Amino acid sequence: MEQLTTLWQYQEQDLYMDKLNRQRKSLPLRNKLIKLRDIIYEQQSLLHKLNEDLEKKRHIFNELNLEYEKLVKNLKADHEKLYSGDIKSVKQLEQLQKNAQEYKEKVMAREERLIKLDEEIEKLGVELMNIRAKAAKARKEYKELKSAYDAEMDIIKTSMANVKKQKLDLESKLDADLLKKYKSLRKDKKIVVAELVGDKCSGCNMSLPSIVAKQVKEGKQVVECENCGRILFIKKDG
Ligand SMILES: [Zn+2]
Repeated sequence: MEQLTTLWQYQEQDLYMDKLNRQRKSLPLRNKLIKLRDIIYEQQSLLHKLNEDLEKKRHIFNELNLEYEKLVKNLKADHEKLYSGDIKSVKQLEQLQKNAQEYKEKVMAREERLIKLDEEIEKLGVELMNIRAKAAKARKEYKELKSAYDAEMDIIKTSMANVKKQKLDLESKLDADLLKKYKSLRKDKKIVVAELVGDKCSGCNMSLPSIVAKQVKEGKQVVECENCGRILFIKKDG
């Protein structure tokens, strides 16, 4: 039966398409790309966080520095007053000295905090630079892998386009009802057209009555396996 031979070829294209689809989903580069993409995302969020930390610390540093400068200015002004000869009383002198001492302590405390903050800012800066370098490397690697992946994918896509074309070509030769039957069976079976080998359906391995083999050989009608419902087919040699 000519139609069955065509259907058999059609099924072969379908099976090849399944294989291409599996290949497409399991390209080794695909997993590598996904892993690398995750790493890049992680680095990006870390960079974001560190940048925020750095900005915060810089802000605190600037505020502290302003306070520090103001304190130093006050301290100087008091000093000037102290030596200006304008001091009228011992009490006033004592007050000024007390103020100066307080300013000094505050200045020193802020100085200490500023130095510590400065160190932290520098450390953060180094960390940021390292991560930026790593991120740039990862992005470069990703770009290279991606183009290799795209090239592999292009080959598969070309094959898929070929299969589609072949299928369309075969479809035009197939009887509409037979094609419809095939398509509906294929919804839950990978192999729809099963070879009859001896008296066995190769789809389900059941032995079938000899009359079935005879009918299939005659090729006057589409014969289905009475056990699994597959369309039976005998391959002609050569
Ligand atoms: Zn069967």
